[in-house]
Amino acid sequence: MLIGCHLSAADGFRGLARDAIAVGANVFQFFTRNPRGGAAKPIDPEDVADFLATARKERFGPILAHAPYTLNACSAKEDTRRFAREVFADDLARMEHVPGNLYNFHPGSHVGQGVETGIAQIAGILDEVLRPEQSTTVLLETMSGKGSEVGGRFEEIRAILDRAALGARMGVCLDTCHVWDAGYDVAGDLDGVLREFDRAVGLDRLRAIHLNDSRNPLGARKDRHARIGEGCIGLEALVRVVNHPLLRDLPFYLETPQDELSGWAAEIALLRSRRR
Ligand code: FE
Ligand code: FE
Ligand code: ZN
Repeated sequence: MLIGCHLSAADGFRGLARDAIAVGANVFQFFTRNPRGGAAKPIDPEDVADFLATARKERFGPILAHAPYTLNACSAKEDTRRFAREVFADDLARMEHVPGNLYNFHPGSHVGQGVETGIAQIAGILDEVLRPEQSTTVLLETMSGKGSEVGGRFEEIRAILDRAALGARMGVCLDTCHVWDAGYDVAGDLDGVLREFDRAVGLDRLRAIHLNDSRNPLGARKDRHARIGEGCIGLEALVRVVNHPLLRDLPFYLETPQDELSGWAAEIALLRSRRR
């Protein structure tokens, strides 16, 4: 089972691998830079080599880089879209130092421009930053639909993938808290939600799961994550997610609110113990 959590370590890839092992993870997610934006630390070749050796030895699955939250490819402001383009391109260049992994981003918020304009702007930025030769798979994250977020409906994800020239090489990361908050009942009707996803996007595009409980009821459009089993989705529903025949081979990344590594270690151990 490929399972891990979101980690942040001050000492590079080496530190991320150390913390992953400490929590019993064989995959992990990390921010490419400060989640609120800002400059990224330069890549240290020695750190990368060290990490790649550990990842091979420990049989890590794909690591998932998460773009900064401030990256909004469909902002109404030209300079915000320029920032998105620059950060996106820089992150993708950096990811090639750890080839063959995943890069996840929030489609963005159209801030009153309308979903259609938002989708066109997101696809436009993808066309400027994606390279046919890159080894990284770029993932669109399913969103809760709060505010003017694009990606709260599976059809919007599909529209972006269809519109981007290299969309056929992209994938999707499904966040259980986000889709629940968007109104997809992953607790009561997981099969139905997956059928819907398959119809709208295609299950072959699904490459990663953000495994989170939600503080809010179905359809709340809030996006407040809860610890596994402490939210409205509940432990049994999340256990069904990790065991579902269509999902069980995907990598699962926890983004649960924990203060210490021991919290994620306990969640990972719990989910591993419930694996069938
Ligand atoms: Fe996210
Ligand atoms: Fe997420
Ligand atoms: Zn979220």
